[in-house]
Amino acid sequence: MSKPIFLVTGGCGYIGSHIVLALRDASYGVVVVDDLSTGCREAIDSSVPFVRGDIRDEGVLRGLFGAYSVRGVVHAAAVASVPESVAEPQRCQSINVAGTKSLLEAMRACDVGMLIFSSTSGVYDEGARPPFDEGTALGPLNPYAQTKVDGEQLIESYGVQGLSYAILRYFNVGGADPQLRAGDRKRSATTLIKSALECALGKRSGLAIFGTDFATKDGTGIRDYVHVWDIARAHVLALEHLLAGGRSDIFNLGVGRGFSVREVIKVVKEVTGVDFAVREEGRRQGDPPCIYGDVSKARQVLGYRAAYPRLESIVRDSWRWEQFINGLGGAD
Ligand code: UDP
Repeated sequence: MSKPIFLVTGGCGYIGSHIVLALRDASYGVVVVDDLSTGCREAIDSSVPFVRGDIRDEGVLRGLFGAYSVRGVVHAAAVASVPESVAEPQRCQSINVAGTKSLLEAMRACDVGMLIFSSTSGVYDEGARPPFDEGTALGPLNPYAQTKVDGEQLIESYGVQGLSYAILRYFNVGGADPQLRAGDRKRSATTLIKSALECALGKRSGLAIFGTDFATKDGTGIRDYVHVWDIARAHVLALEHLLAGGRSDIFNLGVGRGFSVREVIKVVKEVTGVDFAVREEGRRQGDPPCIYGDVSKARQVLGYRAAYPRLESIVRDSWRWEQFINGLGGAD
């Protein structure tokens, strides 16, 4: 019997394109819907069935479910940037919350009963004491994280009516497919590792550290950095958990330890061999001081283990990818 087919929304984005690869590597069928607002068609192989469309358009989703006998959905489509959500909160709300509602309605109408949802560690209350487990109090600090809380609650309400789901709360995702079949293609980087690598490449004049007065070991923000390939593989594990009749639940996906901005910069300089300029600036709006996760539930229930837990591996694969897409090699 052939393996089931899954729809990946946002499959042309950074994380979505890695999920597509991980599913195909595990011999699942994949169909992608993406509006290409931030994703690129080239991010996925031309053999993957693709529809350019908006997830708020239920008709597009119903058409896909019928045409491909879709068994379940990985919902990665979203406005996923915190700064963008602060600049355009209504658009973020519409795509992330109304879009999720439209997907859930289309799934119900077409009897598609399995969903994996991309959520974020940003949902947790920054006042809580890390490591954050899934029971930590919620307290989203920015509009993006608020839309993820709203999306989670919507999904849980459909869960009561029979939907099987796994909500995956990602910590800070970095790296690229170790085979360089995919990577982060966003043109205007706001994340720390990609911004620092653009400095190493000479595409930016220097890196700003946003906030040096946090109550952390060196005053800069602490995050739990996790390799995108580990995140992608966890989606396959979560789907297999649901396919085997496993219970719907929420899972943290991180590595379980935190690095400060200064520590990340040091590793980026070591990996690239470039000593770029760094300047200290004020805090960025909506940035919490210290986030790292307790990932023991994903370990115990899904069998999740980070294959690339070291910050050096995450930075090295991001660096290889940046060199590769900028025509400077990196594929070794
Ligand atoms: N950061 C920074 N300079 C940058 C980008 C990010 O100092 O150019 C800091 C940011 O304030 C946070 C950490 O790096 O403490 C990670 O930020 P990123 O945007 O990568 O992810 P976030 O945790 O905001 O989702």
